Amino acid sequence: MHEFKLIQKYFTWDKPPRDVLTTVGDDAAVLDIPPNKQLVTSIDTLISGVHFPENTAPYAIGHKALAVNLSDLAAMGASPRWFTLALTLPEIDETWLEGFSAGLKALAQQHDCFLIGGDTTRGPLSISIQVMGVVDTGKALLRSGARAGDKIYVTGTLGDAAAGLQSILNNSNRNKNSSLENESVAFCQQRLNMPTARVVESNIIKHFASTCIDISDGLLQDLSHILEASDVGAELDLSQLPLSSALMTLFSSTTKGSQQAINFALTGGDDYELLFTIPASREMNFLGIVKGKAKVTCIGTITNAEQNIITDKDGNRLTSSGYNHFE
Ligand code: ADP
Ligand code: MG
Repeated sequence: MHEFKLIQKYFTWDKPPRDVLTTVGDDAAVLDIPPNKQLVTSIDTLISGVHFPENTAPYAIGHKALAVNLSDLAAMGASPRWFTLALTLPEIDETWLEGFSAGLKALAQQHDCFLIGGDTTRGPLSISIQVMGVVDTGKALLRSGARAGDKIYVTGTLGDAAAGLQSILNNSNRNKNSSLENESVAFCQQRLNMPTARVVESNIIKHFASTCIDISDGLLQDLSHILEASDVGAELDLSQLPLSSALMTLFSSTTKGSQQAINFALTGGDDYELLFTIPASREMNFLGIVKGKAKVTCIGTITNAEQNIITDKDGNRLTSSGYNHFE
């Protein structure tokens, strides 16, 4: 199959939104940005064997490649609009392309985010997506706005993706004792392979939060980015960490297991939950609005601690050692 035919068949979508003036097929895309909005853009690359296990289903790869980018926009309080796709393929495998493009398109349609162009080359499998969104002028959620006394919140549950990755690396999804354990492993692997970008949650959070970040490298690591940018510290209540029942099923039967679950929640990457701070004065209002619409959990408080130190409730220091590609 010729490259142009491949682009035409899998990546030329119909019904572009009205703000897309030219799209896939021209030399570049031309976009209208609404008045009183700012453009928010980010790029993330997924490399086979690094960002997803090599045997990951192509549908999940398509989903995840866009989800991790939508997650960055959600962390900024921006609404997704468009994206470009730079795809490097080892060969033209139509079964793979069918699955990949279907996973990509399903998530794109769910969030009204349109594919406006890209690049296609041959080489080891790698997928780069640059996403673009818009935010009301001056309203982007930066990392620098946290103040002592702000409450620290997260969406969803933490640590599932890390447990899912461990089960894949250990090939421990076989021969579990019970169907409950099998379901729990499947749940954690699904959280790793098909992460939910918290776009809906962001839409509520953006009206109340003083900072926001998405958790891609682990809670402690990503929290430390907020602390450094805002020059504050944090105290976490580890008993409040939101753990899924799947993670509890797999790990909480022993003390050592419970510790492992908490370590996954503190340092495991790939959860793509939002971590954000809410000024105490807005907390009641926030909880009233968010109730029934999104799962959020208060896990601690921003402090005046020097050197951006994170402690637990007993004053023990918690150090971040999330995933770092160069260590
Ligand atoms: P050029 O040589 O002008 O850069 P390309 O052959 O790279 O053109 O791309 C032709 C058209 O197809 C362009 O509009 C480009 O944006 C689009 N395109 C190429 N690869 C992809 C892809 N993987 N997904 C979406 N659009 C793509
Ligand atoms: Mg090109």
